[in-house]
Order: sequence, then C-alpha cells, then structure tokens
Amino acid sequence: MDLTRHLHTFGHYLKTRFGEKVHKLSLAGDFTCPNRDGTLDRGGCTFCDVKSFGRDAAALSIAEQIAREKHKTDRARRYLAYFQAYTSTYAEVSTLKALYDEAATQSDVVGLCVGTRPDCVPDSALDLLAGYQQQGYEIWLELGLQTAHDATQERIRRGHGLADYRDAVQRAHRRGLKVCTHLIAGLPGEDNAHVRQTLATVLDIGVEGLKLHPLMIVRGSRMAAQYRRGEIAPLTQEHYAALAAELIRHTPPEVVYHRVSATAQAPTLIAPAWCGPRWPALQAIAGQLAAAGPQGSALGRPWSGA
Ligand code: SF4
Repeated sequence: MDLTRHLHTFGHYLKTRFGEKVHKLSLAGDFTCPNRDGTLDRGGCTFCDVKSFGRDAAALSIAEQIAREKHKTDRARRYLAYFQAYTSTYAEVSTLKALYDEAATQSDVVGLCVGTRPDCVPDSALDLLAGYQQQGYEIWLELGLQTAHDATQERIRRGHGLADYRDAVQRAHRRGLKVCTHLIAGLPGEDNAHVRQTLATVLDIGVEGLKLHPLMIVRGSRMAAQYRRGEIAPLTQEHYAALAAELIRHTPPEVVYHRVSATAQAPTLIAPAWCGPRWPALQAIAGQLAAAGPQGSALGRPWSGA
C-alpha cells in the first residue's frame, strides 16, 4: 500500500527535502507538563497515559536514546530527533538548549521535532528553535490542540483553549517555524461536524503539518474509567476511515500529513481493538481516498454532511 499516491505524507516530504529516507527517533527529555505537575492540574488530560511515554527512557542521555532508537528502526543515514514525551518545551531555555544541542550535534541528526502544548511555548523557546532552523536543521514545532472547541478542551481537561493555540502558531510563524498540529477524532461530546470545524479552523489559522488520531482509550488514563462506566464509545474503524479520508480531501495538498491514524498495543490499549494493528486502518483510509479522490480534491466543495 502506497499512501503517497493519495496524500502528502511526511515520509515523502522528507525524501523530497533530503533525497533519501529520513527516520524519526522518539526521545524523552526529562520533562513533565503543567497538567501533571500541579500548575494547572495533577491528573492530566483525560485521554493521556503518561506511562506510555517511557519515563525509563528519560533516565538515559539523549545520545544514548538516539543510539537505542536507531537500532529499533530500519537503517537510515539521517534522522530527526523527536522530543515526544510530555511537554518538551516545559523547562528553562538553558535546559532546552542543552537537550536539543545534544541531539542536534549527533552527526546523522538533521533536524528536531518538538512536541508541546500551545500554552507552553514562550518566545525564548521559539527563538531557540528558530536558531537551529537558521543553521539548516529541519525543525517542526508539534502542537497538541486535539480540538478547536473550547467546550471539549474543558471536557477533556486540557487546561488551554483555542486562543492559546492561535497565539502560539502566530508567534511560531513570525519566526518562520513550521507547525504540525495534533488532532483527535472521536472526542467525547463531538461528532463529525465538530472535527470538520476543527480542521477548517486550523487550516484558516495556517499550518504546515497535521497529525490525525482516532481517540484511543488507554490504561491509566481518566478516560479508561469513563469507558468502563459506558460513558465513552470510540469510533469504529469504518467511521474513522471515512471521516479521516474526508478531512484529507478537504486539506490543501501542500499540508504534510505526519500521521493519519495511531496504534497502541494491549495491555496499554483498552479500545478500540482496531487500533492494535497498523495496516488495516491505513488501508481503509487509502481505499476511501482511491475511490473518492486524493488530498485536496474536495477543497471548496461541501462536506458530506453525515
Ligand atoms: S497529553 Fe500532554 S499535556 Fe496532557 S497530560 Fe499528557 S503530557 Fe500533559
């Protein structure tokens, strides 16, 4: 299955930029987040299971983690260092610089992807990232928005709203930084119309990349208890694939899809079971796009309405 026939994948973007495969290595700096450390909350966003971030990894240095992750992936000659765990701009800028420098100075690391929350990107962190970009590194600021609806943000206890996101994106763009926004389909209280509106809002604000996930119920999250009480029902694979394909068709072709689904494994994954294997959901999305048109083909057309 070749997703690049139907959408602008991150793999294809990197191959075009570097002329060869570039792999992304997931790293854990020793961060926390304001939704965990008591600044905003202690229990975290209701969908989040921080244990899956691998605190054990943070016990290793960044260089050690890079070496370890390289062994887990197909060999490549170049890599992006992905600061994934927790809120990877949530520290003094001197600490951030030390961590990012340790990654960036590895001879085969050509860029950094930094995952964070929109309310945790001070100008000093953005200036630091812009500095790497000026040196020629590939830099992506990955912002967890999940939904553009503030009522849902409150329901899932994110602790920030759309205004924080808009402000962070604008300040990143003023520095020439690329933004990849993380979105979740199937959040409690939301239907397809909410998700479509979220995408339209994100595109209107301006974005270079998107990560699209179905809602997954994972062990250790607040949602796990809500799911057991029957208060949450995850999307079916068919529902998600149709919605994801529709969102992709309404996305301009130049926007890079870093991800269009997500996986987790038992016992971490509680539901939906279809998020266990990687390929069936991707095949279903590719099938929808093959039948109805590729990324961007529905721009300017009405949404399907279902
Ligand atoms: S999703 Fe991010 S911001 Fe929310 S609790 Fe987890 S680490 Fe913190």
